[in-house]
This record gives sequence, structure tokens and C-alpha cells, in this order.
Amino acid sequence: MNIILMGLPGAGKGTQAEKIVDKYHIPHISTGDMFRAAIADGTELGLKAKSYMDKGELVPDDVTEGIVSDRLSAADTDKGYLLDGFPRTIDQAVALEKITADLDKPIDGVIDIEVDPKILVDRLSGRYICAKCGATYHKLYHPTKVPGVCDRCGSHEFYQREDDKPATVKKRLEVNMKMNAPLIDFYKDRNLLYRIDGDQAIDQVFASIDEILQKFSK
Ligand code: ADP
Ligand code: AMP
Repeated sequence: MNIILMGLPGAGKGTQAEKIVDKYHIPHISTGDMFRAAIADGTELGLKAKSYMDKGELVPDDVTEGIVSDRLSAADTDKGYLLDGFPRTIDQAVALEKITADLDKPIDGVIDIEVDPKILVDRLSGRYICAKCGATYHKLYHPTKVPGVCDRCGSHEFYQREDDKPATVKKRLEVNMKMNAPLIDFYKDRNLLYRIDGDQAIDQVFASIDEILQKFSK
């Protein structure tokens, strides 16, 4: 099952990815997570990515395509993969077609989680993340079951993403909204696009996604 999760920042990709991975056991490949890990490790890639991420801009295509190509070459993606946050430009989508064709791991479907942009600022500014396992929560919409304790791993440490602070959120939404429409058309033209109403409760969104995924897992 080779899937892409699309959607503007805050649409719920990471939240749904956790559920998809729990059920289907395919690797979750998030370019944003990969960049954040590189920044935390202080690598050259991290240094390069950080200057763009801090401004809410996209990391250049050649850098991003390189890390995805390397990651999809790993054997753990042979039985499937879940891409999250990639592609974000037409150039990346074209590159991905070539990468997946060369590796014989073609995309089965692209799931676009659609949410009214007006509510995304609220989602992003209330988001907090477990520092140990990366699980995503929201102050109002998806708090931990026990206050201050991660549902998934029991850790007590959480953080807010640097780029979820108000100054960067607006710019990120602007940049991504501009890029989103052509990408939707790109996958619609290839008959790969599935649109999901992301403005429902988290479990309902997952139920809608899972209906589609079941087709690919047969
Ligand atoms: P993305 O990965 O697309 O940027 P996230 O999955 O991190 O988005 O979700 C952004 C924020 O919105 C998080 O705080 C998350 O808990 C919350 N969230 C995700 N899905 C929903 C939903 N269906 N309803 C309300 N809040 C949601
Ligand atoms: P995300 O975690 O998906 O919200 O991504 C966080 C940031 O990482 C983005 O604002 C970009 O700066 C960078 N990034 C993640 N994925 C990509 C991508 N496919 N292309 C360019 N930049 C990306």
C-alpha cells in the first residue's frame, strides 16, 4: 500500500498517520519530521533546512527530493509507505513519479484531507507534541487523556513546534495554499486523488480514510 497524505498545515496528516501506521504497519515518511530530526542532530541537512523552516518557507526541491529518494530506497518500504508532507510542489511530484517508477513502488492513491483554511490557525497554535514519541495533541481538540501524560508512550515532556508560533503560521499557510491547488489537479488528472472532509472528529476522519485504504490492502 503506497500512499500519499496531502493537506494544508494543520489539516490532520500527522494525526491520521499515527492511526494508519498503527493499523497497517507501513513506515510513516514525513519530510517535516526528517528535517526536524536533522536540525536536532545538527547535521548539514538540518542547517540547510532550518533557515527555510524558520521563515515558514519551503526547503528547496533538490534537497527535499534527495532525502525522499534515499528514504524510499530502504527495504522497509517494499511492502508499502505513507508519505506525509511530500510532495508539496509540482517539481517534487514529477520527481516522485520518477523515483517510485525506478524503484517499482508506484503510488496507489493520494488522500487529500480538506479543511477550511480559517480553522487551521487555531489548530496549529494549539498543537503540542510528545518530545519522546512524536504523538500529536491539541490543547482543546485532542488533549492527552491524563493531563500531562502522553497517551502513546507515557512521557511527561511536550513541546510546541517553533514554526507553530503566530509569526510563522500565517506565512506557512500562505505558501502552502499557493502550492496546493496545482498539486490537487496533478493527481486528479492521474485518477489517484481521494478527497476527505477533514473537518470532522478525528476518528470520523480516520473512518473515511480507512474506507479508501481497505481497497489498497487487498
Ligand atoms: P498536519 O500534520 O496536517 O500539520 P496535525 O495532525 O499535526 O496536522 O494536526 C494539527 C492540529 O490539529 C493538532 O494539534 C491535532 O491534534 C489537531 N487535529 C488534527 N485533526 C483534528 C480534527 N479532525 N479535529 C480537531 N483537531 C484536529
Ligand atoms: P511539516 O512538518 O510538514 O508541517 O513541514 C514543516 C516545514 O518543513 C515546512 O514548513 C517546510 O519548511 C519544510 N518541509 C516539509 N516538507 C517539505 C517539502 N515537501 N518541500 C519543502 N519543504 C518542506
